Amino acid sequence: MTMTDSKPVGLYIHVPFCKSKCPYCDFYSVAMKPDTAECYVKEVIRRIREYNLIYDTVYFGGGTPSLLGSDRIAKILGSVYVTNDCEITVECNPSDICRENTELSFGKLRSCGVNRISMGLQSADDGERRSLGRRTGRNGIERAIRTVKAAGINNISLDIMLGIPGQTEDSLAATLGFCIESGVKHISAYILKIEENTFFGRNAEKLSLPDEDRTADFYLQTVETLGNAGFEQYEISNFALPGYESRHNLKYWNDEEYLGTGPAAHSFLGGKRFYFERNLEDYLGGAKPVSDGIGGTAEEYIMLILRLKKGLDYNSFKAKFGCEIPDEIKSFAALLAEKGLAQANENGFHFTPEGFLISNKLIYETISKLSLPGGH
Ligand code: SF4
Repeated sequence: MTMTDSKPVGLYIHVPFCKSKCPYCDFYSVAMKPDTAECYVKEVIRRIREYNLIYDTVYFGGGTPSLLGSDRIAKILGSVYVTNDCEITVECNPSDICRENTELSFGKLRSCGVNRISMGLQSADDGERRSLGRRTGRNGIERAIRTVKAAGINNISLDIMLGIPGQTEDSLAATLGFCIESGVKHISAYILKIEENTFFGRNAEKLSLPDEDRTADFYLQTVETLGNAGFEQYEISNFALPGYESRHNLKYWNDEEYLGTGPAAHSFLGGKRFYFERNLEDYLGGAKPVSDGIGGTAEEYIMLILRLKKGLDYNSFKAKFGCEIPDEIKSFAALLAEKGLAQANENGFHFTPEGFLISNKLIYETISKLSLPGGH
C-alpha cells in the first residue's frame, strides 16, 4: 500500500524507553542512552518511509515518549505524511515536564503538529502514587498540566488507576475530582492488573489490594462521577467530553487499519496483523515484523466493537460482512438486557457499565454463537 492508493490510516510509534521500571508495569521498555535514542529515531524514520502512507492519527506511546525530548519527536514527525486534521498524541510523564533543563518544549511540539497530550496521573493521592513508583507529587502534576496548556495544547488526557493498594472510595473521589477540576478533556480509567513478571506480581500477597467486588464498586463510582461531570463513557475504560474521544484509539476498536513501529508495536495493515518482537536491539538491527495472521474477521470485529459504548449494530455488520447476525446472538443480547448487563433492541446491543465489568466473558460467549458461512 502506498500514499497514492490508500486512504489515511493510523500510525503508532512505540518508544521503548523509561527512566526506571514501575512496579506494576509489563510494557516493554529499557533505559535510554543518548546514542541508542539517536539510532532509534533513525530506524523509526527508515521504517516509516518504507510504507509511504498518509496518516490521520499519530500516537507516540510507550515506554515514555516524553523522554525522547521534543527535537527527536519533531524529527520523526518531519518524516511522516499527515492529513491537515491529523490527531497527534504524545504520552508524557509529568516528571519529564517538570524537570529542570528538560529537553521537552511544548511550544516546539505544538509547532510540529502535536495537538494531544496523554499523561499518567494514576492517582491524585501522593501516597498511592508513591506505591505505584511515581515520583511526581500532586503539585507537580498540576504544574505539568499548566505547562501543556500554556503552550496552547488543550486536548489533554489523564490516565488513572482503579484497584491501587490502599485505595478507598474517598481517595478515588478525590482523584476523580482532581481530573474534573483540572479541565482535561479525556480520562482513561484502568483497573490495575497484577502481571506475573512484575514486582507487584512477585509480591502480590504483601500488597493491600482491594478485592474484586471493591474494585468493581470503584469502576461503577468512576462511571457515575465522570458521567455526572459530562464525560461520556465511550469505551470500557475511556471517558471524554463531547468531541474529544481519542480518534487514534477508536481505530483499534472500530477494527480499522494502522501501522505500528518500534519494538513491541502491533500493526493491522493490508488485511494482515503483524508485530515487532519486544527487543530493541533486534529492531535496530533491521528485524522483520512477525506475522500475526489475518485481521478484520467477523469474530475480531465483534470482539472489538463490543468494547465501545455504541456496541454492535446489526445493519453495519451485514453491510461489512454480507450476512446477518445469527439469531442466537440476538437472543443472547435480549437475555443480557433482562439481567441489566446490556441494552438491546432489534438493531443491535451494547453493554451497560455492569456488563463492561465482565465484558471478557460476555464477548467470548457472544463470539461462540457466531458460525458464519465462508469461514469468517
Ligand atoms: S508505567 Fe509507564 S513509565 Fe512506568 S515503567 Fe511502564 S511504561 Fe514506563
